[in-house]
Amino acid sequence: METKKDWASRLSPGVNAIAPSGIRKFFDIAAQMDDVISLGVGEPDFVTPWPIRESCVYGLEQGYTSYTANRGLPELRQEICNHYQKNYDVTYDAATDVLVTVGVSEALDIAMRAILAPGDEVLIPEPCYVSYQACTTLAGGVPVAVPAKIENEFRITPAELEEHVTERTKVLLIGYPNNPTGAIMTRKDLLAIADFAEKHDLIVISDEIYGDLTYGDEEHVCFSSLPGMQERTILLNGFSKAYAMTGWRIGYALANPTLTAAMTKIHQYTMLCAPITAQIAAVEALRHGEKYMKKMVAEYDRRRRLIYDGLTKMGLECFEPKGAFYIFPNISSTGYTSNEFAEELLKAEHVALVPGSAFGACGEGHVRCSYATSIDKISEALNRIENFLKNHKK
Ligand code: PLP
Repeated sequence: METKKDWASRLSPGVNAIAPSGIRKFFDIAAQMDDVISLGVGEPDFVTPWPIRESCVYGLEQGYTSYTANRGLPELRQEICNHYQKNYDVTYDAATDVLVTVGVSEALDIAMRAILAPGDEVLIPEPCYVSYQACTTLAGGVPVAVPAKIENEFRITPAELEEHVTERTKVLLIGYPNNPTGAIMTRKDLLAIADFAEKHDLIVISDEIYGDLTYGDEEHVCFSSLPGMQERTILLNGFSKAYAMTGWRIGYALANPTLTAAMTKIHQYTMLCAPITAQIAAVEALRHGEKYMKKMVAEYDRRRRLIYDGLTKMGLECFEPKGAFYIFPNISSTGYTSNEFAEELLKAEHVALVPGSAFGACGEGHVRCSYATSIDKISEALNRIENFLKNHKK
């Protein structure tokens, strides 16, 4: 549509300050091409397990089509609390500490909006999920990037955080297992981060959406299970990744009663509640979904080993991912920037992946490949990437 007025000048400063996600651009190009293998999307290729879908169908048959309580169905909130008690020995109260949201996306947004005053700084280890900086900026805060190093397996240390802390720092936002690197933090690492958070009296937002997706001997450590951390942590989690439920749009935030009530205020005026159909399905996922989830995790692990071996054999320096379903090879030896590499590979070999720079400046020199796709497709993508490397060097 052609517009007569200068609409751009009327946009909010927050919107003007953020860029569109660097992930979507590549999907749009890929969508117009034939025969593309996508390692781009951060989305399980599995369909939600049938018993979870069936519970929703049954709920609809019974006529569950209404709003729910703003905070979410009581039985879902209770199942979430049971999950944390059983798996991490952390006690949350279903009446006061849980807010069911429209995905972790909403939980992240309202967490930021509930706690940030204009100019408050948020420490964000990078590379990181694309929404972290944007949600901070939209809420009036200032994202402060803390680069994580591949030499340290993309884990972050208190010394690195100390370099960026100021009097305005209010929040530390962490996301482990990490998108895009596949890094995890050990208990020892997190205990040091906990001391740092206490020392500077920070609120910690811990995005644990990939908490169930860890491999080998690595066990996820829930940040609020660490001594003294529950009170200062807003824990975010959801069903999109572990239960292959991206399209259901269902997640939650766990926090102390004051912070939960504050987030609920925003949620009740903007979302009212998460969809009842998705909440019913989420109850089923927590009650009976674990065995299906474990099967999917075992399959991701097979794919992880295939792609890690394949990329390493081609000579690309790779950190072996320990969680989530991404690998983040270093492509700087090719002479391309990460953006050029992604574009040229897509054009020449029809493989879509995401330039590392989409996840923060320190992601430059890397690309993100998602291995949430079939073994056959991963094998074919590896052949094509190898071919590309042979024929393209700057
Ligand atoms: N947090 C991280 C680290 C993610 O990778 C994603 C999705 O890719 C989200 C949050 C958003 O999840 P949801 O589907 O629950 O909104």
